[in-house]
Amino acid sequence: MFSLWHHFLNVLLPDCCVLCDEVLQPRPLDLLCSHCRQTLPHNSDSCAACAMPGQLSAPACVYCGHHHHSPPPELTLAALRHEHSARWLVHRLKFQKGFRECEALAGTMAAQVRRLYAGRALPALLVPVPLSWRNQAARGYNQAACLAAALSRRLHIPLAPGLLRRQHGQAQRTLSRRARQRLPAGTFTLARAPAAGPIPGGLFPAVPIPAGPFPAHAALVDDVLTTGRTTAVIRTLLHRHGVPRVDIWTASRAV
Ligand SMILES: [Zn+2]
Ligand SMILES: [Zn+2]
Repeated sequence: MFSLWHHFLNVLLPDCCVLCDEVLQPRPLDLLCSHCRQTLPHNSDSCAACAMPGQLSAPACVYCGHHHHSPPPELTLAALRHEHSARWLVHRLKFQKGFRECEALAGTMAAQVRRLYAGRALPALLVPVPLSWRNQAARGYNQAACLAAALSRRLHIPLAPGLLRRQHGQAQRTLSRRARQRLPAGTFTLARAPAAGPIPGGLFPAVPIPAGPFPAHAALVDDVLTTGRTTAVIRTLLHRHGVPRVDIWTASRAV
């Protein structure tokens, strides 16, 4: 079904690279030409525990102290450094309904996931960081849920877009670094009946969440990792509800 639909689109609608407008023939899933894909600011030498770039040349991460000789109990992955074209792609996704840019970012994230988890089990559930209902109503979509849906389709991992609720508060990006660190632990709660729903911007349905208890290994999906406070608060909440391992996957890492 997926490849047929992809082939149909490819023939009828030749597409352009989301970064340089070069005509794509054939049309790759990430909507990037090979030059733009290669020249993205890949965060490939990052710490596996905090995703800060440039850490693999030393035995331990200067930011979080993680020793690189063994994988951390919970992995943090940010596919790109939040600069240049990555910053532009995330901005388009977040503020201008950039669903094509979402495919480019999700493709880069999926490639990084396949590299980092080679030979190891992938998470059994994807959980997007939610917006408050007021922000979601104003924007019309949640950029983290769009990324998670695109990853769910690529990696065949079930998605739980309605699992978390977020209280309305001042947007994190408008706060100082210190104020972000004070994000109250009660900002997020678990929804009583998590449901899989349609995600705007996705051409194909994401893999629905199975019935039964939460799996022991989930990944939290967001667009940008900045102070890490938001993801830390949600990680603790999911630990309390019986998910012992929560990896973090973001499109980019702000330094
Ligand atoms: Zn290009
Ligand atoms: Zn680190």
